[in-house]
Amino acid sequence: MMPLAQVLPPSAAITAEGHLSIGGCDLVALAEEHGTPLVVYDEGALRGMARAYREAFAQHAPDVDVIYASKAYFGQAMLRLACEEGLCVDVASGGELYAALAAGFPPERIYLHGNNKDAREIGEALDAGVGTAIVDNMHEIGLWEREASARGVRQRLLVRVTPGVKPSTHSYISTGQLDSKFGFSIEGGAAREAVDAIRAASSLDLVGLHCHIGSQLFDLSGYGAAAAIVADFAAACGGDDLRLMDMGGGLGIAYTRDDHPAAVEDYADAVMEAVRAEWARVGLPMPRVAVEPGRSIVGRAGVTLYRVGATKTIPGVRTYAAVDGGMSDLLRPMLYGAVYEPLLANRPDDEPTQTLRLVGKHCESGDVLVGEAALPPVAAGDVVCLPATGAYGVSMASNYNGVTRPAVVFVDGGEARVVTRRETYADLIARDV
Ligand SMILES: *Cc1c(COP(=O)(O)O)cnc(C)c1O
Repeated sequence: MMPLAQVLPPSAAITAEGHLSIGGCDLVALAEEHGTPLVVYDEGALRGMARAYREAFAQHAPDVDVIYASKAYFGQAMLRLACEEGLCVDVASGGELYAALAAGFPPERIYLHGNNKDAREIGEALDAGVGTAIVDNMHEIGLWEREASARGVRQRLLVRVTPGVKPSTHSYISTGQLDSKFGFSIEGGAAREAVDAIRAASSLDLVGLHCHIGSQLFDLSGYGAAAAIVADFAAACGGDDLRLMDMGGGLGIAYTRDDHPAAVEDYADAVMEAVRAEWARVGLPMPRVAVEPGRSIVGRAGVTLYRVGATKTIPGVRTYAAVDGGMSDLLRPMLYGAVYEPLLANRPDDEPTQTLRLVGKHCESGDVLVGEAALPPVAAGDVVCLPATGAYGVSMASNYNGVTRPAVVFVDGGEARVVTRRETYADLIARDV
């Protein structure tokens, strides 16, 4: 039986040698060839999730935009893959916009987010012909109006509203409640002011509403609650311009064997049925729907490989095992208290007979990858595989302590290709003038 099968990519297997493999590639051999830490994505799993999303929503309507939230992982290979699979992309800064354009995304399939877009980013989006921007505050509406009219163009905009739903997830990633830095609150009247301001501006084209109630959600009922509030708001705004309803992202994934996320099909049913029912209830025609999955497309497809170095046992306290990465390639444990479950790529079948603390190599006591890791006794040279690290790992990576960021490899059908080279020491000082 494949240990931790539910958190590894579906292609995970054990080789004749007893090593863990993904996409037909031996992970121990990949660690030897490319060094560690190494981020490995199963390309088939990435494409499979993109297709699962498109097919699940196509069951409900022919024109749903599945918008890949690129902040989850914005490597060029991933952006090209998302484009090939017919997804749209959301970007949250000028830098992510640049990356999406460089990967060949047609600008009309790009959605621009951000709670503090500046005039330069807005100008870059207008010059590129970005299809749709999601506005977050009144300051930004003024900038769009000024920059669009200066260019003699009309920009399509969605208004990001906060419906006041507080989903059950870590409070740092709950964004739909009233007290949030994101969006216009419906309750306080700010959302209505935004709609009126955009309608009054001749260079701005209001096309719909957006809400994102949070991330890593297991309970789908939050989408129904949000849709009910947003539908009431859409009806109160009147007019027939609110044709697009972007329901955001947030579908959770399994990080450990105890996590039981909803299937994409059930998520699609929940979102589409919520919008259909609530728009009918308030007497409005069904809008076009968009969704913005990030984590659920890339999270399970990626694993990170580390090499164990120093270990120590403090009698009566605990055992520590240190690896050659840490908070610089995987910040989520430190940032959110996120929990991962490791296994050894070189002997995945060995009984996990002990609990140890898997730590990184950074000068921070909080640089802990897994607080309570169930593993067999480990020694220097063992290759640790941390599953479900495909989302918000590489994209939040840093150079803290002068640690170079990992290489990224895509595997498929027994072939591995480097899509991002490992950083070099020279890269670390290249920008210093
Ligand atoms: C982060 C984010 C997403 C993606 O969230 P996931 O939980 O990764 O699916 C989608 N939309 C917005 C506005 C976001 O901020």
